[in-house]
Amino acid sequence: MSLKTNSGPKSEPGIPIVVPRNRPRRLRSSEGVRAMVRENEVKPADLILPLFIVPDSRPRVEIGSMPGVYQDRVADAVATCKRAWELGIKSVLLFGLPETKDEIGAVSWDPTGPVQSAIRAIAKAVPEMTIIPDVCMCEYTSHGHCGVIVDHRGRKDVDNDQTLELLVRQSLSFAEAGAHFVAPSDMMDGRVGAIRDALDDNGFTDVGIIAYSAKFASGFYGPFREAAESAPQFGDRRSYQMDPANSREAMREISLDVEEGADMVMVKPALPYLDIIREARDSFDLPIVAYNVSGEYSMVKAAAEKGWIDGTRVRDEVLMGIKRSGADLIITYFALEYAEDYKKRKI
Ligand SMILES: [Zn+2]
Repeated sequence: MSLKTNSGPKSEPGIPIVVPRNRPRRLRSSEGVRAMVRENEVKPADLILPLFIVPDSRPRVEIGSMPGVYQDRVADAVATCKRAWELGIKSVLLFGLPETKDEIGAVSWDPTGPVQSAIRAIAKAVPEMTIIPDVCMCEYTSHGHCGVIVDHRGRKDVDNDQTLELLVRQSLSFAEAGAHFVAPSDMMDGRVGAIRDALDDNGFTDVGIIAYSAKFASGFYGPFREAAESAPQFGDRRSYQMDPANSREAMREISLDVEEGADMVMVKPALPYLDIIREARDSFDLPIVAYNVSGEYSMVKAAAEKGWIDGTRVRDEVLMGIKRSGADLIITYFALEYAEDYKKRKI
């Protein structure tokens, strides 16, 4: 820092006034100047809106631990997509809650399933909307795990290679319904390559893959499991999701998915893993997606409800932090309310 000593008339004899030569505060002096030098912006087009689709036989229900987020029937999802499109949101991520579940989640590739029906209806009503179904078995299996359960040396575990075949079937079914991307979230080894090959072999070369590449075994998924009714019935997901302690392994997972043909890669959750997002941004040139997960959303909502924080301000700061860390796109349950405020006051 360069300093200039000024011993003008105001200074006491022997006590010089220090005059800084560099004054960063000049760039914060008014909203106009702050807007001129602002380095990052979160636009509605940066946000991906997650939706939970239930069969039409069920009512539309607000999720208890996620205020403002609903389990939607197909018609509700279409209405939400129309509103989202008007607000500048360009993409939705779909999760399905089926009528019935079984050991292998066979209902997930039923062409009349909730997600397939929603894809067709959204594509018809909002043709420009980019539709991204999540690909995983846990919403569809009776045991709530992300694949086929086998007995492995006296311990129940998800079999990697048998699960790949189911993920392929589900992906093809979503592509047939009209999905623009599929987003595998299971963390099985080799699934991006298996899905890419199957899409190409079946004429879906235009359907992309957004890979949940670095998905950590996280406590922040709690409210989602209520929303998607996908809690594991025994054990946990640590044999396939990543250990929160590992960042080098995250880079390896991402680079494998890139090699296998992923079009975009994802880090999930976002807030405790901003370093992973930054490292991914610096190491790879593909678009980086961050998932601002259910627990991250619910924490803000709960604290705001108690009056402990300003929920709107913290929401905007959370999304900006994820963007600044290097994410191009953010999957967030805040998408609609953020886009509404953005339109009203140009955040
Ligand atoms: Zn899963």
